Amino acid sequence: MGDLGLGQEFHTWHQFSSFFDDWCEKHKVLFIIASLKPLISLRQNPLHYQPSLAATLRFRFVRLICKHSGTYVGQSTVQRNRLSEKIDCPASITLRLGLVVIEASLEHNHKLSEVEFAHYFKRHQLEASMGLPIRITNSVSKRFLAPDLIWNLEDYSKAKDKGMCELLSQLDGLFKSDPGAKVKLVFQEDVAVLNSIFLATSHMRGLVQRFPRCLYMDKAACVNSEFELYSVLCQDSNGRGRECAYCVARRGVPDLVIFIVASLVQSAPDIKLKVKCLTVGAGITDVDAVEEVLPCARVQICRLQVLEALYCKARELAVPKEDKVRNLLHNMANASSPRVYSQYLSDLEDLAPLPFLQYYLEHWHHNKGTWAECWAFERNRDCPFLEHMSFHQQKLRSALSPPLGLAACVRGLLELQALRVEMAALNEERVSELYRAVCPPDSAALIAEELGLAKHANYHVKEVPEGFLLDGGICSFLVSRDLATCSCSIYVSSRRPCRHLFATRLWTGQPLYDPGLLHSPSGSEGQDT
Ligand SMILES: [Zn+2]
Ligand SMILES: [Zn+2]
Repeated sequence: MGDLGLGQEFHTWHQFSSFFDDWCEKHKVLFIIASLKPLISLRQNPLHYQPSLAATLRFRFVRLICKHSGTYVGQSTVQRNRLSEKIDCPASITLRLGLVVIEASLEHNHKLSEVEFAHYFKRHQLEASMGLPIRITNSVSKRFLAPDLIWNLEDYSKAKDKGMCELLSQLDGLFKSDPGAKVKLVFQEDVAVLNSIFLATSHMRGLVQRFPRCLYMDKAACVNSEFELYSVLCQDSNGRGRECAYCVARRGVPDLVIFIVASLVQSAPDIKLKVKCLTVGAGITDVDAVEEVLPCARVQICRLQVLEALYCKARELAVPKEDKVRNLLHNMANASSPRVYSQYLSDLEDLAPLPFLQYYLEHWHHNKGTWAECWAFERNRDCPFLEHMSFHQQKLRSALSPPLGLAACVRGLLELQALRVEMAALNEERVSELYRAVCPPDSAALIAEELGLAKHANYHVKEVPEGFLLDGGICSFLVSRDLATCSCSIYVSSRRPCRHLFATRLWTGQPLYDPGLLHSPSGSEGQDT
């Protein structure tokens, strides 16, 4: 193979990587990065390079090996799932300072396959490379991160990739304040390019463990031109949608849904058999394998979103008699029995033009069981999917203003996990009314006042062995584990639920209205004070 040889020189990393992309495409060869050393390393004295040189050359040593090489330079033989892929192919290319080719072994010990090439090759992978060794990124991708792994990655990323460093230090901070957080960084196999971040704090994991029955998942926001945010919500005792997992993922990453669901179950294994229904947005299609991870769960697609998608398509195809078509679609979605559905379907077959009918049959008919009323998980009940998602998106908008870097995105998501944010959306009037119905007016008025104050509560909530510690900076209060008593003077003197009880209940998802709180406790707590 010609046109790449010893002594060949490149002036920028960009120039080399686009040349190499072309060259690989021409010869149908697949190379992966075995080793990259940055031009500037913090471990060594900063050399006399100009900063602009560091930005354009980026690396002082680059070694690329054939995808079928069995070993990475300087490392032991890497064991792979598909061992047959690694057949110790000797092809490799090495570049040294100034991006000069100093070694090029271009003979392979296998046939070059166009099919394989077409399947694996992606341009710009080399250019995007961050310099993390694939031996680390490949193994990191398969498990939850531990703090020491973060330091390890941080060490490698220093001075090479500012965005990655910021992200890692954000995650380092998370582990310091919340050692129980579960985070995965997934890199493209054999390429140190970040594909997705899975994130669940201890609090989020606690929520899904308490309320695993119905989960809701959708693409919730665009982070930047490359990444999107997926959120998983559960529903707490107050009927509120609560965040229980986030995944920031590169657009078009395959098998994302199953990755998110499997990671969620790994982060809270108790829920595996407790999840009965997962409702997803109409844009989420690859749900087939979900039932393997959640064997007791039904997967549903939000019916209103399906209808919205169908209406859009009808408009786009300029379907004649659009109103009638919309009516039929609405009736099919809300059909009370499979027979009724079939009747409306045959009406649609008579009425709708072929292109629309084809679209319908290909996209929505075969999975009608996931969105039409008569096959619904719980029939004749309003699905709260849209309400929860739009509430969630409203919160996101207050914290994230895209386009965002990944570190800023993670920071924003973590900042949303605060009592202050949850309390701000409290509809205290609705709860007050329930108490008014069962209390003497003066008690009810005092409870309403506490609820109003709870709305502005700004505490850091920490779970401790005795219950929940609400730290407000100047003073802190202890709410008992059963969320029935508080250490504050209002509760102690009156035995009425106080703002701290309400705040803790809202935070943990327990009911704000609980007649049990009104009974004067007969226990010994009364004498303690
Ligand atoms: Zn080869
Ligand atoms: Zn209190």
